[in-house]
Amino acid sequence: MLLKDKTAVVTGGTRGIGLAVVKTYLENGAKVALLGSREETVKKALDELKKENAAWEVIGYWPVLSDYGAVKQTFEEIRDHFGSLDILVNNAGISARESIYEYDPDNFRKIMDLNVTAVFQCSKAAAEIMKPQGGGVILNTSSMVSLYGQPAGVGYPASKFAVNGLTKSLARELGRDHIRVNAVAPGVIRTDMVAALPKEMVDRLAASIPLGRVGEPQDVANAFLFLASDLAGYVTGAVLSVDGATMT
Ligand code: NAD
Repeated sequence: MLLKDKTAVVTGGTRGIGLAVVKTYLENGAKVALLGSREETVKKALDELKKENAAWEVIGYWPVLSDYGAVKQTFEEIRDHFGSLDILVNNAGISARESIYEYDPDNFRKIMDLNVTAVFQCSKAAAEIMKPQGGGVILNTSSMVSLYGQPAGVGYPASKFAVNGLTKSLARELGRDHIRVNAVAPGVIRTDMVAALPKEMVDRLAASIPLGRVGEPQDVANAFLFLASDLAGYVTGAVLSVDGATMT
């Protein structure tokens, strides 16, 4: 029960890595608000979680994350509902792999809106609640491509380099407010995002990973559990790789 009596918000909590984080936090005693892009997927995830354990305290919202007013209002409602907001997990993200010659500039903007601007906006709304509370934890979802780049789809790695920048800078800015800020950088993880990639590409990646397998959402959720908990009380500004030592 590493998160007993803590409250958490997880963006992109309806499936994949985010849903694994939501479950892991609930199993460890936290109360959780999961955020998704659509009412339908949020309600479906809540139903599944309630079926698994009716005692879990979990609620859902679907604000537009690029709208700061909507995010601020949602976070204040969550704080009022649970009595505090202790942990934010910025997990929602999208990717693309077009070459720069095919890249629609609107798609570049969409990736930046969700993967970078929404992370900034959720962090700002959370910090404004956490500071007067006496502290909190902000966790971001980076990627192994934030270390190496990738050979196509420049918007995605560029957005994750920015996530690392937000992480390291906010850690320095918010340390004195007792708000720790860290990121997890997953490798190839078995989620819908990876299912959308060509199978040969996933097989080739798995074969090249020193630990010999693709990661599971639970591998990543375990890192988010550690970083959210008091075990990581002196860890801030870190980007923790969870990638089986993958080098792409
Ligand atoms: P996924 O596609 O399975 O889930 C994405 C989540 O983001 C969903 O809950 C979805 O509702 C939410 N989302 C998508 N668009 C949204 C929007 N416009 N507004 C609000 N929410 C939105 O993805 P995943 O693989 O679980 O990835 C989660 C995070 O992990 C992302 O930030 C991704 O970049 C990162 N990541 C994933 C991998 C991987 O291999 N799967 C590797 C490295 C990093």
